[in-house]
Amino acid sequence: MRVRFVLLSVYFLLMLMYLPVEAQTQDGLDLDQAEQQSQSMDDGAEDYLSRPRKWTAASDSTKIITASLMKVNPTTVVLKMEDSGQEKVVRKGTLSKKDQIYLDLVYLIADDNAQYTQLQSILDGFQAGKYPKVEDIQPLHIKYPKSPYATMLMGIASVNSHPDYDKAVPYFEKAVKNVAERHALVNNIMPTTYISCYANCAVAQWRAGGGSVSVKLLDDATKFSETPAFIFHNSGLMAKEDGFRMEKLRLSVKPKATLKSILAKQTTTNPKTFKEEKFYFSLNLDPPPSLHTLDEVIQDFLDNGKDANAFYVKEKPFQDLLAGKNLPYEPWCRNCAGRGLIRCPAKCNRGVISVPKTVLEGVNTLNGKPIYNERYVDAPCPTCSGKGVAGNCEVCRGTGRY
Ligand SMILES: [Zn+2]
Ligand SMILES: [Zn+2]
Repeated sequence: MRVRFVLLSVYFLLMLMYLPVEAQTQDGLDLDQAEQQSQSMDDGAEDYLSRPRKWTAASDSTKIITASLMKVNPTTVVLKMEDSGQEKVVRKGTLSKKDQIYLDLVYLIADDNAQYTQLQSILDGFQAGKYPKVEDIQPLHIKYPKSPYATMLMGIASVNSHPDYDKAVPYFEKAVKNVAERHALVNNIMPTTYISCYANCAVAQWRAGGGSVSVKLLDDATKFSETPAFIFHNSGLMAKEDGFRMEKLRLSVKPKATLKSILAKQTTTNPKTFKEEKFYFSLNLDPPPSLHTLDEVIQDFLDNGKDANAFYVKEKPFQDLLAGKNLPYEPWCRNCAGRGLIRCPAKCNRGVISVPKTVLEGVNTLNGKPIYNERYVDAPCPTCSGKGVAGNCEVCRGTGRY
């Protein structure tokens, strides 16, 4: 009986080990380089949160209490005093700036640590060029909706499975919003994740037609001490593509100038050769600070001011990003925008064009003569015989990818 149980356990363990690997196998976005990243586990966030912490009064820095955090409400916080064991409701506004930032950050960072850890096998798959589907990552987004990692990877997965970039935009936007929320509190955390989220969202926005939003995102991604080379590559490609875009999609004067100023920041020539017509995404994600160091991180931010540059020059993950590792490029054929078909050269609307037609509008009641007017009506496009396409794309031979 016991032996059978052990055998069964081993069987299930093996199943668990092999299943996720198989479920993830799906080739797509092309990786120039694959790199495995190690990660550190954060043990028990709840355990950490129940520990006593020192809280300081805003009015008097010598007034300090030691208490564990029980609950955070919109304007108050419930603390359990270490000495008496009594619970006390304290108004957030009466606590020091550092304590207030801590309260805003602590649950977000706890979630980030949990999501980052649980995402590791999926992220390793991405870095090895195996792309899971959006649905495979979604449970980790639903579990920790305020963390940026899963939504960023959902964006990548979406880009990989549909040439319609507008499906990827909401995922990347959510990731940007989440990482921006942290940087609004302290800007000395997760710089690589910040840049990756902004730069990836910029590509999806550009492809979906949101040119000026895209430039704004790229501009934000270059606010640090150094800018990764792929951002200059993407910016250069945008500037180039802008010249060939449809009138309504072209950049207006202001974003055009911003794009120029981004490109002007490039001081060194590119050590890495990028594929000319391809936008690059970044899979580089750095871990959140551990809860054990959160107080130090906040203190560092308060001491060093709001200049983000001060923090990042020597950061290891940031260096990895600058070295251009884990950069997949968009998989879709540019000639046909991933559709595998060439649009009708007459630029008809899916095989339909508007033609003028003279129609009888009514009768003049004074003289009894008919009133004619010219109206536009739908008719099949003569160029493509109403099919809307002019055959398979020659560049990708109808596959949509290259
Ligand atoms: Zn046509
Ligand atoms: Zn094609």
